Amino acid sequence: MNNQITEPFWLTKSLQQLTQQEWESLCDGCGQCCLVKLTDDDTNKVYLTNVACKLLDTESCTCKDYQHRAERVSSCLLLSADKPELFNLLPETCAYRCLYEQRPLPEWHHLISKNKQAVHENGLSIREYAVSEEYIHPEQLEEHIIAEL
Ligand code: SF4
Ligand code: SF4
Repeated sequence: MNNQITEPFWLTKSLQQLTQQEWESLCDGCGQCCLVKLTDDDTNKVYLTNVACKLLDTESCTCKDYQHRAERVSSCLLLSADKPELFNLLPETCAYRCLYEQRPLPEWHHLISKNKQAVHENGLSIREYAVSEEYIHPEQLEEHIIAEL
């Protein structure tokens, strides 16, 4: 009989070592990385808005065309382990940022809690406050700034 307990992959592998399936499974679906960001050209400061990418379904917080996101949205972050400079643009609760900064996943994370709704129940998704880019004129974006990154 083998009583060995297998450690979960996120505790034993680096981000670079993950399979594509493991990588994708880490996303909690908060949608926060899909909020439009504005950069001040004079200061290089980056600001977060409550305006969601036109391809984000603001109810389910999922991308409506994930397979073709790179071709359809030039500003899509296209996260990967090889682009750690992007992790600063992610919320502190994002699993990729947690693991990159060698912090544990949050207790409510679906891989631990087995509850995919927990991100919404804990108020960490954009569901309650995001408005789709489809309804916002580009000149109004500054009015939607909610934080500095
Ligand atoms: S911020 Fe992180 S956890 Fe949230 S949707 Fe983006 S990649 Fe997924
Ligand atoms: S295209 Fe990129 S930024 Fe837009 S919803 Fe899809 S994953 Fe998010």
